[in-house]
Amino acid sequence: MSEERLIVSVSGVRGKIGTTLTAEVAFEFGAAFGTYLGAGRKVALGRDSRPSGSMIQNAVVAGLLSCGVDVVSLGIVTTPGVALMTRLLEADGGIIITASHNPHPYNGIKFLQPSGVALRAADAAKLKSLWESKKFATQQGLDVAVETVNNRTHPMHIDAVCAVTDVTGISSRRYKVVLDSINGAGCVVSPMLLSKLGCEVVHINGEPNGQFAHTPEPIEENLTDLCNAVRKHKADVGFAQDPDADRLVVVDENGKFVGEEYTLAMVVAFVLQKRKGDVAVNLSTSRMVDDLAGEAGVQIFRSPTGEANVVELMEKTGCIFGGEGNGGVIDPRVVPVRDSLVGMAAILQYMSDTGKTVSQLIAEIPAYHLMKTKLPCSPEAAAKVTELTREEFAGDDGAKFNDEDGLRIDFADRWLSVRGSNTEPIMRIFAEAPTAAAAAELVARVKTIADRVVGG
Ligand code: MG
Repeated sequence: MSEERLIVSVSGVRGKIGTTLTAEVAFEFGAAFGTYLGAGRKVALGRDSRPSGSMIQNAVVAGLLSCGVDVVSLGIVTTPGVALMTRLLEADGGIIITASHNPHPYNGIKFLQPSGVALRAADAAKLKSLWESKKFATQQGLDVAVETVNNRTHPMHIDAVCAVTDVTGISSRRYKVVLDSINGAGCVVSPMLLSKLGCEVVHINGEPNGQFAHTPEPIEENLTDLCNAVRKHKADVGFAQDPDADRLVVVDENGKFVGEEYTLAMVVAFVLQKRKGDVAVNLSTSRMVDDLAGEAGVQIFRSPTGEANVVELMEKTGCIFGGEGNGGVIDPRVVPVRDSLVGMAAILQYMSDTGKTVSQLIAEIPAYHLMKTKLPCSPEAAAKVTELTREEFAGDDGAKFNDEDGLRIDFADRWLSVRGSNTEPIMRIFAEAPTAAAAAELVARVKTIADRVVGG
């Protein structure tokens, strides 16, 4: 029954609506965050477009208000939009009601620091123990906290992106863009941004009603409609967002899905042409960025998976840019979280600056084959597979082991990573090598172990 567990981690709370994530649980987490912050504080709160979002939001708001915390409701907005507004409104914290790329039956609650970044691990642990204790600082008397509405998220977000973008240069190209917003939180703000950049927009799945038209994870098998639409409309580029619009993937002008790892690689290539500075990514991100950084004479820093870890490392090392290979790009000048709007603007400017097509820009990036697989797996089994994987590769020539985030094993020109997920009962096996066959061979050796542990 592990798949029915409510998952409470540094990434927030995630569960299935009506079974593990109920209005009662949402109220409790609202009250726990209210207790954590203290009466008289203020929270900015937004949600993605899932139909369950309204119920969860109202329950969370009630919990916050009951503890004397004021709420500024932003409505259906993107995850980076909530992060941005948390900072601009000088709120004491932020909350996003979203389950990101998880399918429809799921929803979640994500808690932000005043900077817009997810809570640090120690604070997330404190929040979790407050929730477990059920000892909430409920306010007495008639002097109650209030909820207000703020509808400025979209224009503020667009202004922040345009402030670091060559709007005139992109506009002069009159690009045709097909955008798949999966009926998610990006539906309204994204075409507004693209129009401001002078693009002609063909919008598919553009109603923010939470009826996901395909499986939400922005991977190739889920994006055939987008690829076909790019060909049909002879567009310059196709963009796909996940339901909370922090991740972005790209389809080239031939309607070819280019792979989520190329979002960050293209944007890093663009950024390093304009500015010299170090870049932070997570341990699962493709080696492509290492080669690009090497050419530019700057450094790549690697953190454990999880946006908050990347951002913390960026701050510590003074990086000018960051991201994750799953299609997440982070420009701290806009907002210190992954932002698909930042990604779209950067890729369009890369195209307009160079006059090149997406496929030409992709061809310039050093190629690796990154194979990403996942298996259903309990956290206990994932730990066992990790341990046995270490033994399996211990004798391999030049193997270097890193335990910061599951297990990563580096070789001269390839790497392998094995880890349990924080947000789902699965384990992820990633391998990257100069050829697809070599990457597949690394994955196969782990899968043999996993079959023994899980299937045995
Ligand atoms: Mg997301």
